[in-house]
Amino acid sequence: MEVKIGNSQLVLKQGDLTEEEVDAIVNAANPSLLGGGGVDGAIHRAGGPEILAQCKKLGGCHPGDAKITSGGKLKAKYVIHTVGPIWGGGKEGEPKILAQAYQRSMEVASGNHCRTVSFPSISTGAYGYPIDQASRIALRTILNCLKDHQGISEVRIVLFSFEDYQVYARELRQMTIPM
Ligand code: ADP
Repeated sequence: MEVKIGNSQLVLKQGDLTEEEVDAIVNAANPSLLGGGGVDGAIHRAGGPEILAQCKKLGGCHPGDAKITSGGKLKAKYVIHTVGPIWGGGKEGEPKILAQAYQRSMEVASGNHCRTVSFPSISTGAYGYPIDQASRIALRTILNCLKDHQGISEVRIVLFSFEDYQVYARELRQMTIPM
């Protein structure tokens, strides 16, 4: 599914983020930036040791912030490492931190002249964020950022499972229905 926003577009697809041919893929990392499971583990496995070597020099990453390394052996030129919130019930600032993770990733992508960026569904795996709520924040934040960062021509959200894809597609349809 895709929607046009001015001269750019937002694409939802089911697939493996590590196979994306884009300027940057975004990693749902943990604050140490020293590797983990889920999409983080998959990125380091596919991208090789160079990414971890660069991560070690970054001094970690606070939730809601984002830092960049090369893409190592990936097809993507860069990996932007961001850290989402751990779901604790929703009253510990989780929505704001999740929005910041998407926003900072877009800022870092734009600052590094990336035109195409692919995201995973941040925080909805090991970090336990309910995906219906997380998808609305992800979509709204990316749609807003696309207006601010005209250099970015395409953002893709790459969902690993068909169920996750369906949730994002439903939320995006609801958001973009003309009133
Ligand atoms: P977090 O700790 O932020 O929750 P996870 O990596 O545990 O991060 O999960 C985030 C999402 O990434 C989950 O929906 C998971 O299914 C998905 N995921 C795992 N591997 C991949 C992959 N190779 N490509 C795309 N998404 C993936």
